[in-house]
Amino acid sequence: MTASRREVLAAGVGLPLAAASQASRSHYRRIATEEAFAIPEWFEAMDSIPATSPEINEVRLLQSLQRVPTLRRGLLDFDYRLQGMDETGVDMHLLSLTTPGVQSLDAARGVALARLANDRLAEVIAKHPTRFAGLAAVAPQDPDAAAREIDRAMATLGFNGVLINSYTHGEYLDHPKFAPILAALVGHRAPLYLHPRVPAPAMVQPYTEHGLLGALWGFAADTGLHAMRLIMSGVFDRYPGLTVVLGHMGEAIPYWFWRIDNMYKRGAGATNASARGFTPLRKLPSQYFRENFYITTSGVNSHANLKFAIDLLGTDRIMFAIDYPYESSAESVAFLDTAPITTGDRDRIAHRTAERVFGIRPG
Ligand code: MN
Repeated sequence: MTASRREVLAAGVGLPLAAASQASRSHYRRIATEEAFAIPEWFEAMDSIPATSPEINEVRLLQSLQRVPTLRRGLLDFDYRLQGMDETGVDMHLLSLTTPGVQSLDAARGVALARLANDRLAEVIAKHPTRFAGLAAVAPQDPDAAAREIDRAMATLGFNGVLINSYTHGEYLDHPKFAPILAALVGHRAPLYLHPRVPAPAMVQPYTEHGLLGALWGFAADTGLHAMRLIMSGVFDRYPGLTVVLGHMGEAIPYWFWRIDNMYKRGAGATNASARGFTPLRKLPSQYFRENFYITTSGVNSHANLKFAIDLLGTDRIMFAIDYPYESSAESVAFLDTAPITTGDRDRIAHRTAERVFGIRPG
């Protein structure tokens, strides 16, 4: 609250935060694109994960967060959510089952819980079609079942895309076993929101100290790695129509474009490229990012970072997101309201790009 008020005042608006949001509310539509929900059965499933699970670090981190009453209520109570949206001037939440979705569970349980969560989400959207849109949960543990659930979510439930929380049981989506999922996404032109979770068991240990496990660093380290695996393994040569959305201003990847391209050219051009693990690609790594990826502003309310992202990607590739209920809606809206950008750019970031990418009816 203090930071966002300072931001508002620094931008010369000179109004208290609430008044600034109220005053500008009618001027443009705000669609927030990475907004978490949960169902009671999801909490039960997470609580049932045994202490011997390799993913127990993540379970404990999430349980400590979700013990906070406002977070739990924010995930579960849609009237409470709508009230908060009205108060902060947010027109629509693109909803997704909170991290790590159903991906810690065994295949049968994951498949069943994904279906249940998607059915509940469809009911909420049907009740409030102008306020909510939805990304489907799937269980990549069973790739064929996940592909069928993508069919059902897109063709029957009318969802706007799919959200997968990074790896599943330690495996990333470039693994050939996940081909049915990628094919289903492309077949339905369904964007894939690649959302963070705690680093995979094979590399989590150094993240378990000093507060590095979650959103401070571990989330971006793992999700950035996942996106880089997709690019460097040639997934976008095999599936040129695949669209991936990354939160958190692109999980730091745009910051590395030059070095990634430079090292790819050097490595892939070497006589021993294949021995060094390089897959030949049709384009430079950063070109796939510019052509197949979109990013959102979730959890990064910095005008300097936004300016950098606009310089590298353009406002047609950037969408507004809050990361409700884990981040402050008021602060995120104030960040967008006071961004030093043109009205056209603000419209694209706030709603037009999301309408186009996720097939949300323009409002
Ligand atoms: Mn999130």
